[in-house]
Amino acid sequence: MSAHAAPRMHPLTGERLLAACDRAEGEHALLRAISLLAVALPEVDAEQLLQLSLAERNRLLLQLHRLSYGNMLDGYATCTACGAAMEFSLSITVALEGINSAQSPAFEWSEDGTPLRLRQVSTADLLATLHASSAEQAEIALLARCLELDMDVGCDAPSATAYATRPSVREHFEHLHANSELRCNLRCPDCAHSERWELDLAHFLWLKTRHAAHRLLADIHTIALHYGWSEAAIANMSAPRRDAYLELLSA
Ligand SMILES: [Zn+2]
Repeated sequence: MSAHAAPRMHPLTGERLLAACDRAEGEHALLRAISLLAVALPEVDAEQLLQLSLAERNRLLLQLHRLSYGNMLDGYATCTACGAAMEFSLSITVALEGINSAQSPAFEWSEDGTPLRLRQVSTADLLATLHASSAEQAEIALLARCLELDMDVGCDAPSATAYATRPSVREHFEHLHANSELRCNLRCPDCAHSERWELDLAHFLWLKTRHAAHRLLADIHTIALHYGWSEAAIANMSAPRRDAYLELLSA
């Protein structure tokens, strides 16, 4: 997806919100994020979305949140020390600056004279390694997928899987992805424990979308019961218009 011809992103509102919720409901968490983006970006092929790096996916998820639900990511995290709720509030503008400034698509270096290239992990990579026999096997398979070897080095050179077991490859992988996730410092109001906390953006956006869809359905239900208008007609009203009818009904 080039920056020059950015496809138009639609907010998750009205019928599009209900369609996004229907589509993502029964899916694996990894696919849900892609489904929400696919509904918001109808011109983009879903396969293309699966190939995006997680940083690029997160950048689009942040844009979609801003377009649909506003610029602040507000919610609660659970204190790992005492279980109390810790409030968080992250600005999408700041989060996007962090993602945009620190991204390189790949890291290249040389090991025992062999040039190696490690690219950013994508949703497709994570899905492909989901059913590995152990967490360790999944990690090696993931590293091997992201590792690009020069095929001219000769047949006695180690394979991508052999390289993937090296600590150096793991270190470069972690470094390459250091800024793809959203992190902030949180301090527990109850026990004063402070921790570096990471927001699962895909899950957060899914919960928000499901909540918004259920609220919209409840509003449609109330208005349709009284006026008999169709689901589509009510869903596609602007939110202030729907609110105005609801206010009249409760008066
Ligand atoms: Zn605590």
